[in-house]
Amino acid sequence: MITEAKSESSDWRSWFFSTSLGIVVKHTWGKTQKFRTLVFALQFLLFFGIPWLRWGDRQAVLFDIANRKFHLWGLTVWPQEFYLLTLLLITFALTLFLATAVVGRLFCSVGCPHTAMTSLFMEIERRIQGDRMARLKLAKSPWNAEKITKVALTHAVYSLASALLAFTFVSYFTGNHQILSGLATGTLHPAVLVGWAIVAALVYGFAGHFREKICQVACPYGRFQSVMIDPNSLIVAYDVQRGEPRGKYRAGQDSMAKDCVDCSICVQVCPAGIDIRNGLQMECIACARCIDACDDVMTKIKRPTGLIRYGSLNSFGGKETRIIRPRVLIYSAVVMLALGGIAGTLVTRPTVTTEVIRNRSALYREMPDGRIANVYTLRTINKSISPLVVNLEASGIEHLEILTGTNPMTLKPDSVESLTLSVIAPTKACEPGVNRIRILLRDANSGQLRSAVDTTFMAPATVPDESKETKTP
Ligand code: SF4
Ligand code: SF4
Repeated sequence: MITEAKSESSDWRSWFFSTSLGIVVKHTWGKTQKFRTLVFALQFLLFFGIPWLRWGDRQAVLFDIANRKFHLWGLTVWPQEFYLLTLLLITFALTLFLATAVVGRLFCSVGCPHTAMTSLFMEIERRIQGDRMARLKLAKSPWNAEKITKVALTHAVYSLASALLAFTFVSYFTGNHQILSGLATGTLHPAVLVGWAIVAALVYGFAGHFREKICQVACPYGRFQSVMIDPNSLIVAYDVQRGEPRGKYRAGQDSMAKDCVDCSICVQVCPAGIDIRNGLQMECIACARCIDACDDVMTKIKRPTGLIRYGSLNSFGGKETRIIRPRVLIYSAVVMLALGGIAGTLVTRPTVTTEVIRNRSALYREMPDGRIANVYTLRTINKSISPLVVNLEASGIEHLEILTGTNPMTLKPDSVESLTLSVIAPTKACEPGVNRIRILLRDANSGQLRSAVDTTFMAPATVPDESKETKTP
């Protein structure tokens, strides 16, 4: 049964300024926390490191909002392809459903950036102010020199960590080289500074103060998990059969007594402020701190560890856990389908795309030599990271000719080129009115067709004899 947690928070001023009257979490260190710390370290390494990687002359991973282009190493997603990002987000959500059905809230425990940041800020607080008892004592003590120094230092380190995390986050969108050179020369765009300040304030507030409130109030995933988890999903749970009825430990007590000695350590280490012994609760982020803490207690009183452990509701009830089940198969199939769709689109997408826009000022122009000319603007995107030289050709009417200042045309890597060109056709080769033609871009070196675009070629409604006048729409 899912039940609500109670916070120890009372006075918001004390809570904000001392950072210690929210849920005052006791430190614990065991195999699950060592594993989580390793995963968090890896996450921070990737988060801080990736913006410093270069790909050619640009940042390897850059969500360039100003130019509406997303760069992921050699891949550039153009505005026309933003459906790929939507597909990616949907795939991520489906993967989360699948993961939740199998491993419960493992994402909350080790994958969520908020959990990683909160763990970092909790560690900062512990290093400066001490463990739970010391922080409780400090929070209740008068504002003497020691308290002011410790609290000021905590907030100073929080601010520094928030600024660094926010700088890195913003650099994914602006480019860290641009931010640093903008700062050095005083030319940093005010919008970047404002974005940086807002993200830093959010990190400071979320990880430094709101912590579990974000999981319980703001994050929709915690609310959904009760419908995504079933009796076969992996959860952190207390073994009621082994632990109840609980009772205080007395040295030399009957070896048949139940294992929970009601020490409340599992409650003191819980960052969500809940008692795992009350059953599966919405607030539990499966951080497994209570597992390590209780294992310590069990080791000290010479009882088997695992009174609180990972398992499924079925396994705790003595039944078999089924990993392969209909919802897992359905989620897996949909995720594979979505991933296949993304991969297929990326592999088959053309590296050069072209669009052609007709000149709207004149449908056609009759040339002095009796031929007919139509004027177009060619807009070409080279999505590859190498320059391309292409020959422009036209087909669809006999003896078509392209007149432009630059043929062959050079397409710079990862950029858009616009070119005005005239397509000229002998009048007698044209159908009266609308003709269908195709403009082709061929690799100047290999002759390979890089892009082709269909358009219309306008001729007079009746084939003229001597007429030389210009028609306008
Ligand atoms: S830490 Fe273990 S023994 Fe202590 S109260 Fe929690 S479940 Fe019981
Ligand atoms: S109950 Fe245990 S696993 Fe759940 S949030 Fe608290 S400490 Fe973490």
